[in-house]
Amino acid sequence: MARIFIISNRVATPHAGLHAGGLEVVLKATLKNHPCVWLGWSGDIKRHPKTRTVHQGDNSFIVSDLTQEDFEEYYSGFANRVLWPILHYRLDLAEFSRRDMTGYMRVNDHFADEMVKVLKPDDIVWVHDYHLIPLARALRARGLHNRIGFFLHIPMPPPEIITAMPNHENLLPSLCHYDLVGFQTDNDAANFARYLANELGTPSRRLGTGDRVMRLGAFPVGIETRTFTRLARRAVKTELVLKVRESVPGMLMIGVDRLDYSKGITLRLEAYERFLAAHPEWHGKVTYLQITPRSRSQIKEYADMEQTVNQTAGRINGAFSDASWSPVRYVNRPYSRTALAGLYRAARAALVTPLRDGMNLVAKEYVAAQDAADPGVLILSRFAGAAAEFRDGALLVNPYDPDSVGAAISRAMAMPKDERKSRHAALYAALLRNDISKWGDKFLSALMGTKSFNLEEAGRMSQNLPAPPH
Ligand code: ADP
Repeated sequence: MARIFIISNRVATPHAGLHAGGLEVVLKATLKNHPCVWLGWSGDIKRHPKTRTVHQGDNSFIVSDLTQEDFEEYYSGFANRVLWPILHYRLDLAEFSRRDMTGYMRVNDHFADEMVKVLKPDDIVWVHDYHLIPLARALRARGLHNRIGFFLHIPMPPPEIITAMPNHENLLPSLCHYDLVGFQTDNDAANFARYLANELGTPSRRLGTGDRVMRLGAFPVGIETRTFTRLARRAVKTELVLKVRESVPGMLMIGVDRLDYSKGITLRLEAYERFLAAHPEWHGKVTYLQITPRSRSQIKEYADMEQTVNQTAGRINGAFSDASWSPVRYVNRPYSRTALAGLYRAARAALVTPLRDGMNLVAKEYVAAQDAADPGVLILSRFAGAAAEFRDGALLVNPYDPDSVGAAISRAMAMPKDERKSRHAALYAALLRNDISKWGDKFLSALMGTKSFNLEEAGRMSQNLPAPPH
């Protein structure tokens, strides 16, 4: 029986809580509708790494430990200190001293070895994200002919930026070993097509030799729209949300982001500061709740940023608070999906202003959570992937320009209900057009080159594939 063989850095194993970021939500429909194997890192660092398998229904989850050296070189080093900043357009933060990608390649080879042990000829392989760019090359080198797709969850910058990465020529072209490479937006796909054209002289988005072609495409991720709306409707009545509402004089504005430099949190706080300085009439009438769980704290840039964000929030509160009101409420901890959904719904505006973001699901969750009869306003960075779908309804801003973001806050706070409703209707329609329940099958049918995805047919097709070019 053909299976979908998913591989990503982290795996959301059953009963182990959320350990794969947003991936388990994105892959939920695929895991539910098809027999799947999901392989990746266990999250454990061991001197003598082991690989374990857990079964649940038709699905199997295979997790493999890493050594301390693997963790430092592959995950903390090359993936998060070189690839993450560069793919987010931050050459200034890339640690070029860590350009050695040996550990990164070694872990990719390790995952390829683990896969070879269990992969069947008709399995359809789906590789996720920047940790595993060279995996198809490693699998082809082991003689595997399966259909293999890759999806990049984060941005793909233009070639002028990618080519600043030492050894990019050993890494990025290895994507040509996939049958399909998917991106969040057309812009990301076009950037990569231009890289290939510049570097390899390939003329189009269909590449390859012989019978096998590598195709590029955009597959923007979405959310479970209606489920999230229902959740928010219930959650707004929970004790936490009621308490927050009671304790905030006037309107609530919300920001929800991992503590990451790509999210533009400091500049966003500065924009709010300009808004407060320019609009004393709003003092005491708006409170900005920024929910920001720490992430990757072991990396210096993240620790530095934590300090800057703390200081900026403190400065704003010092300058503008009075005994009955503090303009910023800055919280450093994770919340349940239910709590977030309720807080989104209680907020008159959301500030989602990343400097660069693959998609940004918070923007989508905020829209889904609103009460259509009295919705809030989404203030969205033009540099979030979501901006491509949300042009019509969001207030699009340049996150590098605090004055323009400050002006958007003022516009959102004063926006009449009719305008809020028509903007929200446009945003909600965009969400429904691209619901996450259809995303997996859209990608998989593109991978198989078929109109819709049928696992049996896909399995038969996989077995008749031609051998890959060398
Ligand atoms: P990224 O994947 O870069 O972190 P996204 O906006 O695409 O950014 O996805 C973030 C996900 O993490 C969203 O689903 C959001 O609800 C969740 N999240 C963000 N902040 C928190 C928090 N404080 N508590 C719980 N979940 C959070």
